[in-house]
Parts: sequence; C-alpha cells; structure tokens
Amino acid sequence: MDFELTDIQKQIQQTFHDFVERKVKPVAGRLDEEKQFPAILFKELGDLGFFSMRYPEEAGGSGLDHVSYMLAVMEIARGSLSLAAACTMQSLMATYFLYRFGDDDIKKNYFEEALKGNKIGAICMTEPNAGSDLMAIQTIAQGTSEGFILNGQKTWVTSAPVADFFTVLARTDNHDQLSIFFVPSNFEGVIIGKSIEKMGVRASVTSEVAFNDVKLPKRYLLGEIGGGTKCLKEILAEIRIMTAALAIGVATAAYEEALVYANERQQFGKPIGKFQAVQLKFADMCVKLETAKHYVLYAATRCDKNLPRHKESMVAKLYASECAVSICDEASRVLASYGYAVEYNLERYLRDSRFTLIGGGTSEILKINIAKEIGL
Ligand SMILES: Cc1cc2nc3c(=O)[nH]c(=O)nc-3n(C[C@H](O)[C@H](O)[C@H](O)COP(=O)(O)OP(=O)(O)OC[C@H]3O[C@@H](n4cnc5c(N)ncnc54)[C@H](O)[C@@H]3O)c2cc1C
Repeated sequence: MDFELTDIQKQIQQTFHDFVERKVKPVAGRLDEEKQFPAILFKELGDLGFFSMRYPEEAGGSGLDHVSYMLAVMEIARGSLSLAAACTMQSLMATYFLYRFGDDDIKKNYFEEALKGNKIGAICMTEPNAGSDLMAIQTIAQGTSEGFILNGQKTWVTSAPVADFFTVLARTDNHDQLSIFFVPSNFEGVIIGKSIEKMGVRASVTSEVAFNDVKLPKRYLLGEIGGGTKCLKEILAEIRIMTAALAIGVATAAYEEALVYANERQQFGKPIGKFQAVQLKFADMCVKLETAKHYVLYAATRCDKNLPRHKESMVAKLYASECAVSICDEASRVLASYGYAVEYNLERYLRDSRFTLIGGGTSEILKINIAKEIGL
C-alpha cells in the first residue's frame, strides 16, 4: 500500500504498529473475554501521545495531521477494536468540546489530564428514544440564576462506568436547538446505570447514565445555548472517517490472519490457499481492503487541507464498515471450524466488526444523506 505517506506519517504508523504487536495483540482476546476496561493499555496509549495527537501544540497536543491520526487508529483497531473504541472516544468526541469551549479550570483539570490518559471522558448523546434522530433528545437543562439543572436519561455511553467526566447533549428550556454541557461524573445526581452486555467490543465498557437534578454552574455550558448541533457538525466528518479507520483496522487483522492460515493449512495434499475458490476470496478481500483504506486516507487528507469532506466522510464510513463486516465474514470462512472457535481471533473480529456499522451513522442513514448530497 503506497499512499505516499510522509516520513513522519510512516514513523507514527510504525510506532503504533510496534506497540500493538508487543502489547495489544497478545492480550486482546483475554480483554474481550473479561469484558473489562483496558485501563493499563489505555494509560500507555496516553503516554504514547495518542490522545493528544490531533490537538494543536498550544493546547497541549502534538499538532499532528488527520492522516497520522487515522493511521494510528487503524493500527490500534488492528490489535483490539475494544481498545480502539475507548481510545478514539477519548481522543475525539469526549475531549473536543472541552478543548473548544472549556474555561481554564476545565482545560487544566480535565482536558489536559485526559490528553495524558489520567482522566477518562465520555459523550452522552443517545437516549432510549433518540438514536439516529438526535433532535428527539429529551434530556433537559433548565436555566436558573446560578446555572442549570440537568435531568434526563442517556444510554449506550462508551466508557461511562469508568468515566471522570461527561460531555452531554441536552435541550434547554428556552431553545429548540441542542446545547452541550460538561458534567463531572462525581456530581450529585449523576447515576451510572447498568452496563450493556454486547455482542462485540466487549472490553469497551458501555452503560446507561441518568442525570437527576444535577446542578451545573453556568461555566459548564460548552459553547452557546442552542449551539450544540452546529458544534457537533464541526467534528462529524472526522468522527465518520475515524469510524471508517476503526473498520479498516479490524478488517486488516482478519485478512492478515486468514492469509497466514491459508498458507499453512493443508487439505487434499496442499495448502488451502492453492485452491482457486480460496484465492478468489482473497482477491475480493484485498480489493475491498485496499480501496477502502485508500479512500479513508483520501478523506483524511481533505480534513488536513480543509477541503469539503461531508460527502467523502459518509462514503468512507459506509464503504469501510460494510467492507469490514464482509471481510471478517469471508476471512472466518477461510478458517472454517477454527474461524468459529473462540480460541482463534476470527470470531472476535466478526463480532467486533459489526460495531462499525452503527457508530457515526448507520448505513441506511448514510445512504439517505449521500443521496441528498448528490442532489436527490
Ligand atoms: C458499541 C456502541 C457504543 C456506542 N457508544 C455511544 C456513545 O459513547 N455515546 C452515544 O451517545 N451513543 C453511543 N452509541 C449509540 C449509537 O450512536 C446509536 O446506536 C446510533 O446512533 C443508532 O441509534 P439506535 O441504535 O437508536 O438506532 P435507531 O436510530 O433506532 O435505528 C434503528 C434502525 O432504523 C434505521 N433508521 C432510523 N432512522 C431511519 C431513517 N430516517 N431512514 C431509514 N432508516 C432509518 C437505522 O438505520 C437502523 O437500521 C453506541 C452504540 C454502540 C453499538
């Protein structure tokens, strides 16, 4: 794959590749089985600079480009999609609004600590009755003379059981548009609900969060009243490209492991990779993986060049996630019974890959919006 990466981009890719080979791959299966937040690896990725790479230097980040960030995401997801899901949440959605709108106290005590991996953040958008349709959000922040009182129920919150702070999308009593609030998890009235048992990404812990009369000072409003939807759009393309990078990571792992197996496994007196039926599977997987990866990096370069990327981010996310599920499925067939065995990684990849179909917009929602973009 030659996307003409710069020397720095290649170096970053190699750094995360080596980290994943040494630290993540050997434990990824156990993490999934134990369904525990991977606290040690999370902190080590903080020390390696993953959480700060996409923020500018003046904010305590390393000011790297989007291509570098996506390459790192692909590598981490190649090792463990659970770990990558928790880490991308931290590096993007959970911290972005603190960076944009937090006051000195929020920046010093939460944002900068989150960049080092010392504090964990989460984003609360989804509600029991508001998934794809975020405008149906019912969580309400009632304005008072001192600030706001927050009430509502959120669900599917990645990292909620271990989070130190939340970024919460809510409506206010005086505006139809949504607003964004900063909420420390130890505030009175913040209740972490039951963990959600999932099919995949099981080491990325997810739960419900309730806000019962949580009193927030005025300064915890991030941005303007009613400015939440617009601000969310600022990073929507990046969220989608990042989800596409997650998909590439897990698909690469499945493809690479199936390839090794196809060269080793002997049936009818030769490696199964010598049978044309198996070769055709690999040709199809290779085409999907290469095209999806190139397109995701192309979409990331549009972010770096500040070019329009709304449509490109949707194409990237839709194509990469659908390719990932199909590649993980085909790769597990190459291993046949061993692809069905928990002892091998392929069944985990297949379960995990389905997560990439959901976050950042479902395939159906993306298709509808792509059709709108092309004038239908
Ligand atoms: C592992 C995991 C982690 C997550 N982490 C977070 C998190 O940290 N924070 C957070 O806020 N949320 C999180 N989510 C929630 C995620 O963002 C939502 O699940 C997603 O937005 C889809 O919402 P929904 O599941 O309610 O599906 P729905 O919106 O109810 O959709 C159900 C089905 O209907 C289809 N559909 C809906 N509307 C339309 C339409 N207009 N036209 C055609 N088809 C339509 C969808 O495509 C889908 O097939 C997470 C989800 C998962 C699985």
